Amino acid sequence: MSCATLILNSMDIVASDSENSNDEMPLVKRRRLSGSCNATSRRTMVKKLWFPDGDIVLAIEKRLLKVHRRRLCCSTVFSDMLHIPQPPETDQIDGCPSVELVGDTLADWEVSLGWIYDHNYFQQNIVTFDLLSGALRIATKYDIGGLRQWAVNELLSRWPEDVANLSLNALPHAAEAINLAQECNVPEILPSCFYALSVQKFRSSADGGRSHIILSPNDLRRLIAGREALQDALVRIIVDPLTEAGCYNNAFCGQCAPRRLEYWRTRLAPDPKSVWSTWLVRELEQMLRDDQFVNSLCSDCVHAHLSTIRWRLGRLRCSISSFFLL
Ligand SMILES: [Zn+2]
Repeated sequence: MSCATLILNSMDIVASDSENSNDEMPLVKRRRLSGSCNATSRRTMVKKLWFPDGDIVLAIEKRLLKVHRRRLCCSTVFSDMLHIPQPPETDQIDGCPSVELVGDTLADWEVSLGWIYDHNYFQQNIVTFDLLSGALRIATKYDIGGLRQWAVNELLSRWPEDVANLSLNALPHAAEAINLAQECNVPEILPSCFYALSVQKFRSSADGGRSHIILSPNDLRRLIAGREALQDALVRIIVDPLTEAGCYNNAFCGQCAPRRLEYWRTRLAPDPKSVWSTWLVRELEQMLRDDQFVNSLCSDCVHAHLSTIRWRLGRLRCSISSFFLL
């Protein structure tokens, strides 16, 4: 983002008589000096982010925050802007220059300033998806390296690059995370986001029933294409669990082969009553650790069985991106 979107401006400040709450205080009436604001606009200060010794005022939505320039300089965008000499006629609010942050939300800035003023902020607060996305949006737009790195790491802990590391934490907000990843340039989480969404059945509203509203038509197409590809992969296994071309072939052990065949089909058969589709990656991981079944096979078949699972798991992990047309 360029500095051009930050407007050092002369704002129209009027006293608020209706939007006052515990953390807001009305500002005194000021004469309108520029054409940038509507004559009837009302702006109230946010008390908890109004530092008496602050030296810059941020205008966000209809709120005013008085903060410290040196704190904002963790942002490359602010640092560059604040080092440009300002004309003396720049309007002042409470003795400070003001910056209107167009298109931002107060909620996103509250989170980001929380971190800017105290890097332990996120250890003291429950990191909800809204909090995380707010921090990432501001960090990306204003180039705040440390905050962005924290947010990206947090996203990767929920939607890791390798779908094998996906946990139940990946299921909520998977659709919102797709939009966020695109808005804030974090493409590495997309395969896991789409995969997390694809194991949730639309008819069960397991995704909250909102994915079709949240996703763009293009992303909805990716999701459908990915689900079809996963379904094809699952059907291929169920039709031919032991001798699929490429997998370790030891299907002729009279003692183990019928049981292995049955095992694959039982483990992976879709359950019509479940709110989830078959979570193939997770099932394969669990099959690898199913010692009870593995130990019931003869030694040759143990090797064949585990090799076949690993081969399918590896192929699936490599294919997720292309399944979702990423
Ligand atoms: Zn055997």
